[in-house]
Amino acid sequence: VRARVMQVEHEPEVAYEDIGGISEQIDEVRETVELPLTSPGRFDAVGIDPPSGVLLHGPPGTGKTMLAKAVANQTEATFIKMAGSELVHKFIGEGAKLVRDLFELARQHEPAVLFIDEIDAIAAKRTDSKTSGDAEVQRTMMQLLSEMDGFDDRGEISIIAATNRFDMLDRAILRPGRFDRLIEVPKPDLEGREMIFRIHTRSMNVADEVDFEQLAEDTENASGADIKAICTEAGMFAIRDDRQTVTREDFENAWEKIDDDEESDGDEIS
Ligand code: ATP
Repeated sequence: VRARVMQVEHEPEVAYEDIGGISEQIDEVRETVELPLTSPGRFDAVGIDPPSGVLLHGPPGTGKTMLAKAVANQTEATFIKMAGSELVHKFIGEGAKLVRDLFELARQHEPAVLFIDEIDAIAAKRTDSKTSGDAEVQRTMMQLLSEMDGFDDRGEISIIAATNRFDMLDRAILRPGRFDRLIEVPKPDLEGREMIFRIHTRSMNVADEVDFEQLAEDTENASGADIKAICTEAGMFAIRDDRQTVTREDFENAWEKIDDDEESDGDEIS
């Protein structure tokens, strides 16, 4: 059962070049997560500790998971992912046990990048509403923080957490020695969107008339995940039409479709 909720991938195939529009964030992740793994001596020499944990925050589908995978790829580390929601359990002690198992798994796979998605599920501010299980969720979070504390020697495990709901977080997890490096991963701007279109069409058969700059202008507010979906959908239009080349119209239809789908989803957050 445990193995099912923890995703393990050795050197995932995501490179920094596959991530568009967030080069500053890439640089920051490289400096704070990659450098301590590849050159721990540089931190020792200066006499500072690398950050304990990095928290990526921003809207869904902006590349947070990709970033964590790219670090694992670059450092030849194992990528271990678990969603915070999977750590929420009814039974007393179950969440804490899973956290211990998660760190044990990471130790077995050193060097490892431990990615905890939806950290808000176990680290939300306490509200007045007395949800049953609140205390259990809190214990799970305490276990996570205590596992992080246990890394005196720093070992070869990097911890990256992510959330789409930064304002909901209990500020206690952001204290020094915990998730003490925050990196905001925003939706892409115009230039970023164009880059992401180019990335996701690299292996597509696209007509010369397709203007990525124009597409980027037309898709304001699209996330990286939306752009990826647009490219796939555009390809589907071509297939349905029995064509091998994807045209400008295919992209336009695809965006219309995806934009509509999103609107009917309301502002539900995944
Ligand atoms: P969530 O918060 O929903 O988990 P996320 O920020 O972790 O989202 P990813 O899982 O990294 O998002 O992105 C989903 C997919 O969208 C990626 O596999 C990729 O195909 C595409 N994508 C997202 N952001 C980018 C980007 N900046 N550049 C290229 N592709 C992107």
